[in-house]
Order: sequence, then C-alpha cells, then structure tokens
Amino acid sequence: MKYGQPIYKKCCFCDSPIEVLPLLEGRHTGSILWSDGFMNSPMMPKQEIIAKCDHCKEVVWLIDLENMVIEADNQAVKNKITRYTALNEQELFAIIETEHYKQLPPELQVYLRVEAWHIGNKERRGKTETQAFSKLERENMIALVALLDLGDPQSRVMKAELQRELGEFNSCIEILDYLFDPQFEPIVAKIKEQAELKNINIIKVFGK
Ligand SMILES: [Zn+2]
Repeated sequence: MKYGQPIYKKCCFCDSPIEVLPLLEGRHTGSILWSDGFMNSPMMPKQEIIAKCDHCKEVVWLIDLENMVIEADNQAVKNKITRYTALNEQELFAIIETEHYKQLPPELQVYLRVEAWHIGNKERRGKTETQAFSKLERENMIALVALLDLGDPQSRVMKAELQRELGEFNSCIEILDYLFDPQFEPIVAKIKEQAELKNINIIKVFGK
C-alpha cells in the first residue's frame, strides 16, 4: 500500500484545506468479497468521494472541491489544515432525503444508496441468523433496485442480490439468467445458490 503526497481540497463551506492522501498503489491480496459486492480489503483502503469536513462538519463532495496549493512558509494556512470523516448510515439517509440528492446524476444517487446499504450490512455479513432490515433500509434497497441498470453486468449482479436480500427469490434468479463474463461467475453462483435455498443472509463469496 502506497500513498502519494497529500493534496489539499478547499472546503466550500469553511475554506479550510482538507487533507487527502491519494492511494497510489493498493492490492487486493487478503481481500474478502461478500455477496452484496462489498469487499474487505486491508491493502486497498477506500477513497471517499463524499465526506464530512472535520472542521465545519458540513458534507462535501471531495471530488468537486477546488485544489489548494499551500506554500511551505504559509503557516497561517497550514494551521487550518483539517481532515475529513466518512459518512455514516444516518447521514447518508439524510442526504438521500434532500433536494440536492434529486438533482444528482443517477450514478451518484446509486453511489449514496449503495454506501448506505453496505454500511447497514456490516453487522450482517457472515452471520447465520437473519437480522431484519429496518424500514429505511428496505426503502433504500427498493429504490436501489429501481435505479440499477440491467445493461451493466455489475449493476445486474447487485440488483439480483438486493432482490434476494428482500426475499424476492424468483426475481433474483430471473435477473441472474444472463450470460455473464467469467469474472462474475463466483458471485453469480453464490447468489443463485442462496436464492434457491431461500436464504437472505449476506454470505462470503471468497477470501478468509
Ligand atoms: Zn469545512
């Protein structure tokens, strides 16, 4: 794992320089892939695209912020350097309720909903007993099913998995009836097998 030199993004609310460490090199060695598509990758930490500014606590799209150049001798600006914190499930749901969300391109709407789904699934992965989804979680999953495009194989797999977790086993199996590239075979086989067993739990596809 190798990080590059920090880059600074100007918070659009408080002007603080937000420090971002770009990941230059990561590996999927030792990763675990789960049926919901989430991957635990100790050697490939996630790079956030939306987060809370640690200084003003406002939510910012890191990808949209202006870059800042900080001169080595500018101590006043250096003192203002701050970091950011990833959003939690409640914060993601709160954004999804806003007007701002409705104006986002579909891929970012999908991103926010997948993030919320994956965070909620954290305690469920690998468990044999079923932990029911909350009303908000279910609503999010149903909205995600509607947003995901069947033309894209990765979205198709995700949509099938959502249907399985929602207990819509026939729909799940139907969606998976498609000629996938070999790279999708392990996850498709697992999801299908579990749908046939009428199991909604999140299961491991590979890794230990
Ligand atoms: Zn800020």
